[in-house]
Amino acid sequence: MNTTIRKEVEKINIDEVIIPHAPLKAYTSYRTGGEADFLSIPSSLEELRLILKWATTKNIPITVLGAGSNVLVSDDGVEGLVILTHSLHEYHIRGLLCVAQAGLPLDTLINIAIEHNLSGLEPLGGLPGTIGGAVWGNSGTHELTITSYIEWVDYLDKNGELFRYYPLNESANYRTSFFKEHSYFIYEVALRLYFNKNSSLARLQKEESRLKRLHKGQYDLPSAGCMFKNPEGLSAGRLIEESGCKSQSINGAMVSPHHANFIVKTKQETTSRDIYELSEEMKQKVFEKNNIELEREVHLIGRW
Ligand SMILES: Cc1cc2nc3c(=O)[nH]c(=O)nc-3n(C[C@H](O)[C@H](O)[C@H](O)COP(=O)(O)OP(=O)(O)OC[C@H]3O[C@@H](n4cnc5c(N)ncnc54)[C@H](O)[C@@H]3O)c2cc1C
Repeated sequence: MNTTIRKEVEKINIDEVIIPHAPLKAYTSYRTGGEADFLSIPSSLEELRLILKWATTKNIPITVLGAGSNVLVSDDGVEGLVILTHSLHEYHIRGLLCVAQAGLPLDTLINIAIEHNLSGLEPLGGLPGTIGGAVWGNSGTHELTITSYIEWVDYLDKNGELFRYYPLNESANYRTSFFKEHSYFIYEVALRLYFNKNSSLARLQKEESRLKRLHKGQYDLPSAGCMFKNPEGLSAGRLIEESGCKSQSINGAMVSPHHANFIVKTKQETTSRDIYELSEEMKQKVFEKNNIELEREVHLIGRW
């Protein structure tokens, strides 16, 4: 660590950056779930390193949350430290590389890229979440996934050591990534895009993607996107619909009438447990009808 950084770290008082017993509801798209034992919202690499080291030294488990749009947080809360990334949102453009910290919303990043005549990500317009969350889950649509644009990812291990990952020839499989297999903190992502002098057209294409989602009712009610992954060559939504689950509900958790693979929250009092129970019923019914075990796409976080 160089002297300037060491001085910065020494200035940070750990008690001032860790919040005990912090409700997490506000940080998830479902607006459900319990408390984190500890919460921290770092805004610099130095602060992040200090927090990671603090938790690791004390043997405290660490959970990362981006925009919380692909998670179901337990009503019984999350053990240990939850780190929210939304204050890590700086970016810069270098040639065809768009470099962004993990907490920058993906939709904002697409707008920034277009402003700089950089294209490629328009089909992901309107996809909720942060760039870090998207890279972790290799988010995307049937047209493209984010991994195909990654040049490198800077990540930290639990001791706060910084590393660089290059995807090189690794194939971008459906909703899988290097980061899903390791407990690392994605800090910064560089995406290699292509030059497009027609930024007006790119803006229109991006807006079209967002409007498609709007017209499909994706933003009408709280959800976390698709609850289950599509089994190879099949549509999880169709399997769920054919098993008779559409519009089924448990205490306000409802199989979306628009898209059977979305569970929407229709009541204020709906809990994560209600959503979970409904997802288990859907899984069971699909299994009984088709002998296919659906795999959850939404990530369960906390004390389940
Ligand atoms: C209406 C709606 C539509 C959606 N449509 C799509 C779609 O078309 N395609 C699609 O792929 N997804 C879709 N999603 C799901 C979700 O938006 C994406 O998966 C998104 O990329 C998740 O980003 P996030 O920041 O919200 O991640 P979170 O939900 O906060 O986290 C998801 C996982 O990533 C991990 N994580 C997040 N940030 C980091 C980090 N910096 N370092 C390490 N781990 C991290 C978390 O620990 C967690 O396990 C949709 C969701 C909604 C609500």
